[in-house]
Amino acid sequence: MGKRRMVWLNFKNLDRRQNALFDKLSAAAEELLGSGQFIQGEPVRKLEEELARFVQCSHCVSCANGTDALVLALKAIGLQENGAVFVPDLTFVASAEAIVLAGGIPVFVDIDPDTLTLSPDDLQKKFTWIQTHSSLQPKAVLCVDLFGNPCAYDSISAFCDRHCLSLIVDGAQAFGSSWMEDSTLNAGLVGTTSFFPAKNLGCCGDGGALFTNDAQIASCARSLALHGKSMNQAELYTQIGTNSRLDTLQAALLNVLLPHFESVEIDRLRTLAKRMRKAFQSAGLRVQKVLPQSDPVFSQFILLSGSQKERDELIRQLESKGIPARIYYPVPIHLQPAYAPFIKKAGFKPDGILNPNTVRVCQTIAALPFDAWMKDAEAEELIAAVLSITEQFLPEQRIERDGEEKTV
Ligand SMILES: *Cc1c(COP(=O)(O)O)cnc(C)c1O
Repeated sequence: MGKRRMVWLNFKNLDRRQNALFDKLSAAAEELLGSGQFIQGEPVRKLEEELARFVQCSHCVSCANGTDALVLALKAIGLQENGAVFVPDLTFVASAEAIVLAGGIPVFVDIDPDTLTLSPDDLQKKFTWIQTHSSLQPKAVLCVDLFGNPCAYDSISAFCDRHCLSLIVDGAQAFGSSWMEDSTLNAGLVGTTSFFPAKNLGCCGDGGALFTNDAQIASCARSLALHGKSMNQAELYTQIGTNSRLDTLQAALLNVLLPHFESVEIDRLRTLAKRMRKAFQSAGLRVQKVLPQSDPVFSQFILLSGSQKERDELIRQLESKGIPARIYYPVPIHLQPAYAPFIKKAGFKPDGILNPNTVRVCQTIAALPFDAWMKDAEAEELIAAVLSITEQFLPEQRIERDGEEKTV
């Protein structure tokens, strides 16, 4: 490699995708403007068909965004007032918010400290707690493929079957990821995703979709997204719904973006993640553990430091080299002020430590720049920068993890 010094690395190179596909996106937008079909119509129908084919699921219902997809899914499975929905404590706030918007009570479950997804052991504990300490009715598990990493679907679905809980998969960060060679969006009763620009399949605005093999749930969700309109009796509104249509312009753009994601980006994301994971793991650094049944398409590349001090120092030193790193997520949802009432409703003590793994991971997690548009040379520079920084201040951790003296 030459002596080129990197000036700046973007956290996400969305502009590169925009530039590469600009002509095709413009043509699609122009065609749509010419057609005057701004609400629903052929672009939406075609996208739903293509998405269902990609996910290999019988029904795809598009909607306005990934949060709505979750709300529609939860309402369509019949979540009722005081229905408890188990959700991981480490996720984007929308996972929990959707439960409240759908009328349910979120119960925050700790994560597995290695995969960073919902802990099946803690799910059992929280379920028992709810049954013995609250009057809530356990209804569903809403698990999240965090940063693209599939959850432990074997134990989680077995648990849901045993206790008659519906399994909802929040795949907003995991479009393209699979569990046992099937999209994780098929791992539960309903799977949802988001087309927010920075997600795996991002559009040029907001968008979302849900997937299910249950015709009744699909039809109910579709009706809810169209103001509760009856799907078979014209002019009748049979339930209180909302306006959550996917914008037709976004659907037209997604009809360009999906084939590109499928033919180019998905492989690139996988190759890049493998390269980075290997480099960091062989240096004794911790990355997200991937279960053997999983084939993730990561949306974020995560490093776990030994302590908060080391994490903060890593981010500070990366930034001084012009490399932006971020903290997803700095605060467990159970500690977010808006969710305090639900901790109480679930019968937990407000001052006790609810989910120790989540609390610790929030202190030690860092997300590095990562996307399908990152160049090989940039990835190598990123790897070199991280290794040189961590070598300075993580020698003990490396020795401990490798079981042998490699550095110092
Ligand atoms: C982004 C995201 C959502 C919400 O998607 P929007 O399209 O932004 O509404 C839900 N859950 C998770 C885990 C997310 O990352």
